[in-house]
Amino acid sequence: MEICVVGGGIIGLATAWYLQRDGHSVSLVESRESVGLGASQANGGQLSYRYIAPLADPALFAGYPRWLLGRDAPVRLRLRLDPAQWRWLLAFLRACNHRDRAASIAALAPLSLYSRQLVGDLAADPAFDFDWRRNGKLIVYRERRAFAAACRGLAASATDHEPQQVLDVRACCALEPALARVAPALVGGIFTPDEEVGDCLALCRAFERGLRMAATPTRILLSERAQSIELSRGRFRSVRTDRRTITADACVIANGVLAGSLLRPLGIALPLYPLKGYSISPKVVREDGAPVVSVTDQGRRIVYARIGDRLRVAGMADIVGYDETARADRIATLAREAGRWFGDAVDLSDLQAWAGLRPATPGGTPIIGASGIDGLWLNVGHGALGFTLAAGSAGLLAAQLVDRGTPVPDRPFALTGPPAGSARAFASVFGRGRAVEEGAR
Ligand SMILES: Cc1cc2nc3c(=O)[nH]c(=O)nc-3n(C[C@H](O)[C@H](O)[C@H](O)COP(=O)(O)OP(=O)(O)OC[C@H]3O[C@@H](n4cnc5c(N)ncnc54)[C@H](O)[C@@H]3O)c2cc1C
Repeated sequence: MEICVVGGGIIGLATAWYLQRDGHSVSLVESRESVGLGASQANGGQLSYRYIAPLADPALFAGYPRWLLGRDAPVRLRLRLDPAQWRWLLAFLRACNHRDRAASIAALAPLSLYSRQLVGDLAADPAFDFDWRRNGKLIVYRERRAFAAACRGLAASATDHEPQQVLDVRACCALEPALARVAPALVGGIFTPDEEVGDCLALCRAFERGLRMAATPTRILLSERAQSIELSRGRFRSVRTDRRTITADACVIANGVLAGSLLRPLGIALPLYPLKGYSISPKVVREDGAPVVSVTDQGRRIVYARIGDRLRVAGMADIVGYDETARADRIATLAREAGRWFGDAVDLSDLQAWAGLRPATPGGTPIIGASGIDGLWLNVGHGALGFTLAAGSAGLLAAQLVDRGTPVPDRPFALTGPPAGSARAFASVFGRGRAVEEGAR
């Protein structure tokens, strides 16, 4: 099959990779001058297969007022004159309940483990050098109540396959001596030895190289924007870009937060909104003071990960629209925290400040599968887990596209909705966090 993939972030590139491996002839369109420069560029680097809980959490109601008003709050909301933002927020608030949260985790768990298996295969291939390491993830707590709740959650979900360990502060520091500086402020931690870390941009580039070097190379069109999707007799026919028309048998939409605007003219409304996050990547200048294990400061929702000779410090979720500016106050918060935690082990005069827009659905599950239009497929909405889930989502989509058995249950990722125009359609927008708007399709 001839297939056109729109979007050259980690999701589009992984999709092109698994489609090409299945023998399809693939074209990939990316509007920026190079691949991986959207949300995939300088993310937290966590391949966090076990920590897949969505942001929508009933416990957030307790923390939100403090978070939303605080200067350094991990979540920041600025209400805008934008109905899409309000719709998303309402659906998000509706998803903040135990049932939806559990359903989201249950759906994501097999996808995440499938992704881990595929990432393992990539990491074993010398052509894929993306600073991958299985260094384990240590989540440290500063509040006793939050730590106790996390330990209870662990006990409830523990199986033989989940070798997670509850550590007191001494054990945290023994495991990761670089924590000595902040030890007095900590109450304990949970360590997951089999979590991984990697450089998402390097993986994007490795995919690009592999796609170009294949016997039947993927045609990668950079600095070229997909402007519209054209149909013929109700089925996908071509992608019109600002340079040409690409006719194909099928198309996969994987252009992150901008997928909604591309599909709206077709009557498809995606429940996506950007959750803006930030990172800095100062150079490690003193090995004995910088962490080797990935560390998450759970109170502030900041992750610290070693990527090459730098420390990636990432976090925050600003619900503020599509502006990609790396705001000075948010960057300053990350820099201050990095200094507090690891002092002069990192060089804070060279921050590599960055901001990116996570393409988020209200309930935290991506949309992977048919769009409702023949030949038009979706792989979008991976929110805070796009690096972790990219390989699995791409493998799943490649299986769906040729209608072979799917490697994991795919129903939870479907863009489903009741018939357009019904009262149930409206309820579906706000009730299940997954939308086919009134009048759509
Ligand atoms: C601060 C931060 C930290 C994060 N940390 C982690 C983490 O530790 N682990 C994890 O798993 N995930 C993490 N994420 C989430 C992860 O980075 C995203 O889920 C993932 O990058 C989304 O990938 P994507 O390919 O869907 O989007 P993008 O990477 O944004 O790619 C979409 C691409 O489509 C292109 N495009 C848009 N419109 C068009 C068009 N019309 N035509 C052609 N091209 C177009 C864009 O230029 C872009 O390159 C983090 C995100 C942020 C912001």
